[in-house]
Amino acid sequence: MTGKIDGDRLWRRVMELAELTERERPYTRRSFTDLFLEGRVWLGEQFAGAGLELSIDSGGNLVGRRAGSRDELPPLVIGSHSDTVSGGGRFDGIAGVLAGLEVAQTLGDYGVTLRHPLEVVDFLAEEPSEYGLSCVGSRTWSGHISTEDLKRVGPDGETLGEAIQRVGGVPSLLGPEPLRKPGSLACYLELHIEQARVLESKGLSVGIVTEIVGITRHRVTFVGRTDHAGSTPMGLRHDALVGAARFVDGVSGKATAFADGEDYFVATVGQIAVAPNAFNVVPGEVSLVVEHRSNAKELSKRFSGELERLTNEIATALELTCAFETVSTANPAICDAFVRDTIRNASEDSGNGYLVMACGAGHDAMHMADIAPMGMILVPSRDGRSHCPEEWTGPDDLAAGVDVLYETVLSLDATLD
Ligand SMILES: [Zn+2]
Repeated sequence: MTGKIDGDRLWRRVMELAELTERERPYTRRSFTDLFLEGRVWLGEQFAGAGLELSIDSGGNLVGRRAGSRDELPPLVIGSHSDTVSGGGRFDGIAGVLAGLEVAQTLGDYGVTLRHPLEVVDFLAEEPSEYGLSCVGSRTWSGHISTEDLKRVGPDGETLGEAIQRVGGVPSLLGPEPLRKPGSLACYLELHIEQARVLESKGLSVGIVTEIVGITRHRVTFVGRTDHAGSTPMGLRHDALVGAARFVDGVSGKATAFADGEDYFVATVGQIAVAPNAFNVVPGEVSLVVEHRSNAKELSKRFSGELERLTNEIATALELTCAFETVSTANPAICDAFVRDTIRNASEDSGNGYLVMACGAGHDAMHMADIAPMGMILVPSRDGRSHCPEEWTGPDDLAAGVDVLYETVLSLDATLD
């Protein structure tokens, strides 16, 4: 490794923050908890030690700022999140925040002053929080949070707004107005673990993201007739679960065909409810949620159409009634072409093998794409594991990714306004 960043320092920090976990359930540091706030205190010390000016913004995000020589320019921003899922890993999000810190500190080590100010951000509550909302902090920046969202109540009766206030935010300033106006950031960069095994399988250290996939969710319901499982002959049944089973198999088959082309495509039936769900009763009603993700909007639209057709065909064949409804659609977040090319040049210069790829998981970067030119760097996940204690990215891979991030920041600082 010939890069400029200090891989040992970075690694030490990743391992140190990992120590702040619920003891019986490593690695857990849920947003808004005391442990999370302990993590924030530790992060603040690290930020300050690296010469960053600290603040908590109205969205409850921890921001470390390094002044630029032309400090009036919009900031270059590097962000991710320090909260975890329950029983998660040591790298998801954390790697990205500490990568930003490492970039800032390396600039200091080499006596480099950027033209732009640099901000390193720990976005609040990226993982689905106790309030049923994910990416809370990055939503406040992009205005993707509503006053209704702030009234969501958590398990202790505290509202999301109150929780944001407790961690230092100002909920009265939040709502549909973005905290950061579109165009007020020079760019947004995020390094994240891949959470899949593509990079590892190809022996590459760096993934350059083209798009973060869009997600579409449908609720499908089959209604047949609840009957006695012993006395109802096979030919007289209207079994809703048989319909659902055909549907699940159809989703898998169709998605496999859709994934055959250039574009990213996955689909999953991950939730199913059977009524009455008793072993001696023919299922009368089944409702399931199917989600599909793709970088290509057209593909998603076509898939939705095929699913609706499939639902109707199955219902007709089995004499069931059915309902097909779209629960949510989120468009893919496109990475900025110039930022992407800059990351690619930095990867080539560093000699690290890289892959240009779509990203199948959601990140804070998705919300930033609406207000800033956005770019993402992925680093490999061993065996693709994530959101589990086995989550792992080797120190060399992590350092390689952060080196590319460092060089990307230098180039963007020189070229962006
Ligand atoms: Zn994450």
